[in-house]
Amino acid sequence: MKESVADALGRLAALGISGAGKYIEEFAGRVFVVKCGGALIEDAEVSAGILDDLALLNRAGIRILLVHGASVQADREMEAAGIVPRRYKGLRITCDRTIEILERCFTALNADVAGRLRARGVNAVCFSGTLGGGLLVAQRMTPDCVDIGHVGDVTSVRAELLDALPDDALAVVSSLGVGPDGRALNVNADYAATRLALDIAAEKLILLTDVPGVLLDRADPASLVPTLTCSHARKLIEEKIIASGMIPKIESAVRTVEAGLNKLHIIDGAAPHALAREIFTDEGCGTQIVRG
Ligand code: ADP
Ligand code: MG
Repeated sequence: MKESVADALGRLAALGISGAGKYIEEFAGRVFVVKCGGALIEDAEVSAGILDDLALLNRAGIRILLVHGASVQADREMEAAGIVPRRYKGLRITCDRTIEILERCFTALNADVAGRLRARGVNAVCFSGTLGGGLLVAQRMTPDCVDIGHVGDVTSVRAELLDALPDDALAVVSSLGVGPDGRALNVNADYAATRLALDIAAEKLILLTDVPGVLLDRADPASLVPTLTCSHARKLIEEKIIASGMIPKIESAVRTVEAGLNKLHIIDGAAPHALAREIFTDEGCGTQIVRG
């Protein structure tokens, strides 16, 4: 057994997760996409736990692509610049000044996350807008024909950039796309992660968020929907039970599962070692989106 794998097993055992060996064997060399919202990264303790888990997965030989947003960081900088953040169906309305702020926030956060991973011994590689070669090719989008500014959706992924990485690399991808004119487009991080996972045929996509999963009553964690079919998800959006940032998350999740992605889970990133537990144990947690 490789030393790094033995080390990962030891660390998992210390977390009370035994029997991970069979998963490590099964998943070695497979690609997992993990998306982490800006709010989770903002919390020092929560993000340290998530980065520890990512380092562990990396050591266990799983190929990870981490997609991150920068929602909280961008809200803060926008407010400081006197711009009131506004959203349309959960998507940030992005004027000229906002896209400049977002470019700064995304790139700074991207470098910060990669640096924290490197401090954990991980070969982290940065992708943010044109940085890293322009991984996410995007096109402007106008939901319901509404102009929401410099907001895009990913139209293709330059997967050759990922193929060129060494086996032990962990790609840290901000959800900043590159438009046809070479300029940055703000892509919702759930859109970026779902499209990326589909294009590279990832084994599994895990969306880490700040709630336990999809809830029927947002005030009641016990109202969690463990398995959500695509048709039920559409109904919950229509009924406005799914609202705000959960709309782009679920719409893109449904689109991706229907297009063929096998496994998609939405879990609470603040729960201790949620990621390691999701991957290395049989315990179900959060919401799984399935066809139907
Ligand atoms: P992320 O950083 O994970 O993308 P968002 O704020 O964009 O975070 O989306 C998650 C938010 O969606 C939750 O914090 C919650 O306030 C909101 N939300 C809306 N409807 C629901 C629902 N039915 N169940 C759970 N969360 C919901
Ligand atoms: Mg969001």
